[in-house]
Amino acid sequence: MLADKESFKQAFLEKLAALFGKTLEEATEQEKYQVLGHLVREAIYQRWVESKRRHAQQQTKQVYYFSLEFMLGRLLSNNLINLGWQENWQAALQELGVDYSLLEEVEPDAGLGNGGLGRLAACFLDSLASLGLAGHGCGIRYKYGLFEQKLVNGYQVELPENWLKEGNVWETRRADKAVKVRFGGQVRVEEKQGRLNFIHENYEEIIAVPYDIPIIGYRNDCVNTLRLWSAEVARTEFDFACFSRGEYLKAVEYKYAVEAISQVLYPDDNTYKGRELRLKQQYFFVSAGIQSILRYFKKCYANQWHLLPEKIAIQVNDTHPVLVIPELMRILMDEEGLGWDEAWDITTRTVSYTNHTILAEALEKWPIELFKQLLPRIYMIVEEINERFCRALWGRYPGDWERIHRMAVVADGYVKMAHLALAGSYRVNGVARIHTEILKTREMREFYEYFPEKFTNKTNGITHRRWLLKANPQLAELLTEVIGDSWIREPEELKRLLPLVDNRDLQERAASIKRQNKERMARFIYQHCGLKVDPASLFDVQVKRIHAYKRQLLNILHVLDLYLRLLDEPNLDLVPRTFIFGGKAAPSYYMAKSIIKLINTVAEKINNDRRFNDRLQVCFLENYRVSLAELVMPAAEVSEQISTAGKEASGTGNMKFMMNGAITIGTRDGANIEIGEAVGEDNIVFFGLTADRVMHYYEHGGYSSWYLYNSLPRLKRVVDSLINGFLPAAREEFSNIYSSLTHSDEFFVLKDFLPYAEAQAKIDNLYRDFQRWQRMSLTNIACSGRFSSDRTIREYAGEIWGLL
Ligand SMILES: *Cc1c(COP(=O)(O)O)cnc(C)c1O
Repeated sequence: MLADKESFKQAFLEKLAALFGKTLEEATEQEKYQVLGHLVREAIYQRWVESKRRHAQQQTKQVYYFSLEFMLGRLLSNNLINLGWQENWQAALQELGVDYSLLEEVEPDAGLGNGGLGRLAACFLDSLASLGLAGHGCGIRYKYGLFEQKLVNGYQVELPENWLKEGNVWETRRADKAVKVRFGGQVRVEEKQGRLNFIHENYEEIIAVPYDIPIIGYRNDCVNTLRLWSAEVARTEFDFACFSRGEYLKAVEYKYAVEAISQVLYPDDNTYKGRELRLKQQYFFVSAGIQSILRYFKKCYANQWHLLPEKIAIQVNDTHPVLVIPELMRILMDEEGLGWDEAWDITTRTVSYTNHTILAEALEKWPIELFKQLLPRIYMIVEEINERFCRALWGRYPGDWERIHRMAVVADGYVKMAHLALAGSYRVNGVARIHTEILKTREMREFYEYFPEKFTNKTNGITHRRWLLKANPQLAELLTEVIGDSWIREPEELKRLLPLVDNRDLQERAASIKRQNKERMARFIYQHCGLKVDPASLFDVQVKRIHAYKRQLLNILHVLDLYLRLLDEPNLDLVPRTFIFGGKAAPSYYMAKSIIKLINTVAEKINNDRRFNDRLQVCFLENYRVSLAELVMPAAEVSEQISTAGKEASGTGNMKFMMNGAITIGTRDGANIEIGEAVGEDNIVFFGLTADRVMHYYEHGGYSSWYLYNSLPRLKRVVDSLINGFLPAAREEFSNIYSSLTHSDEFFVLKDFLPYAEAQAKIDNLYRDFQRWQRMSLTNIACSGRFSSDRTIREYAGEIWGLL
């Protein structure tokens, strides 16, 4: 339609006049961006409608991915790429004298997620649409996304992320599709014609309004929907109840209380905090989502509820949306009149659950009192699920009260969300092979014994369209030139590169692209941090949420060790390196915030020591987010994936780096293990304790970090430098870090320190050999295809959703 340049140019100018009454000369970048967004929207509207009609007509099975987080990042470029119009439109804009890259920068990141879990959801949406599958997202339209991180004197400060302030061109509000969600009140039981009816009374009813975002497949006709719900006051409650009584201020206060539900994303990654508002958020979007799915189902299939599992699949991203199970039960029974057994059969053949973590602090459990008071009818259903489940367990394990108690859905005053998910779904998956094995053999062992057929692994992936084609266009072009463009649709085709990894010319060209990406990164660092880093130095990057288990501490202690060695031996022969860090800490995570301050303090010390600037620099990138990740990944040469083995369920950052040719230095954890198998042990640098060893220490003891600290002088010197006045900070500033390392060292930082330093020395050595390094880098790219989320989604589609 607007695929040719001339019609696009004309449409652009017309739209600019129509929307803003301006000529090109007068228009701001923001306005030009809006115009572009509107043109994309209008151009795909027809396809969107067509997609929906096709699905309804062909009665295609629909998948709904329920997630409290979708970290989409920017959409403009990816939409243009997937439409196949990017080159033409960019060229046309250039002819108009418009700089596309400036418009791209205007778009705020849609940062409705914390980290890996939310970004995974976004990658999955892209793959679902690109594979032409009818798979949609369901979530919350938070008014404020993940906070913006500022560094003030080396400390993290959080600012609200008002991403909607200029509007959002990608969304369409669908007031006609709003539904009601009820909280609180009481349930009255009534018997009528031998059947119990549950009547919910005195509840508070709020309105859930959907905002739809089109998700465009890669050069196909598929346009799926991400439906994000916004909480609004029911007009009747707002207008009459209060105003008529003249209680204007109360009415306004009430409105704020309701809107609070979709106001802000909770900024915790891998940690659970039992906040009432969070539970409200969960039920709010679950109930709205299920109601809208069932409305669609009834339109297509009337009351043929037995068809539901055949026509609908619901995937819950972690336990956050697990209330879909009792909510589906509630509607099928209370509103549609089905009996328990029938409703349960349908529900448990429709819902499947993805587990993302085994960290104890992340496991959701809600106090019964809170749950019951907020969701009285749902609580009754959960209780009934629990009773029936425990009875079934009794049948299998008669007399084993302790086991039944451990596996119960409701126990010890809590509703255990993972147990509810396990009892009420037909598949449970982990997100990397080792993670699934740990679930089966440890964390969920008893559930695995009881329901072995439910457990399956689905190793995570990333969309290679955003993370290679979009983020690293020069590399993408080089790949297409040498192996053809089939890899774009079939990422495993990147394997065609394998026979060429020793090709000298290819190596030179790949290295030159990496160099340009590093120069771009260096310019960004100079503009944003005022630090001049050397683009010829090795770029060693650790970007991810700041968390004790991810061990940014291990990295920064090693940097300190290098610096101390330079002080001893000023002529030390090191490959010049720039250590780049980035990541947000949860605002209430005290230790993570200290780690940020430590990294910045070490950076200040080292960067101000001119003697060694030629060999060592340290930079902390402010406000790590998707758009910044797209800049960093293509510039990275070393990928730091150094979590305590057994703690990182999968990781997806590791895959983005690999796909852009960085070499992983990592532990045998999460998907690192599978990356190692894909590239071979020669093309990755592993170090440190294995998950089995870590587990052995947790169970049997035998590790004393205090002893280790006192027996290794090199280690002691580094750790002491945290508290002996060596660093430019108050003496007490890092005493918390010092104590946690020397007293318990729960994450084995000191234990893995020397093996890590050796692994880093190995990296130093490898980097000196240009051909060796380039060969490793190209091999990583060549083997990265299986970490495309297209592969992951094909597995879900075939083995869980019954689509292929
Ligand atoms: C990919 C990604 C993550 C996840 O990184 P991990 O290293 O797997 O923890 C977090 N944040 C952003 C912005 C990402 O793009």
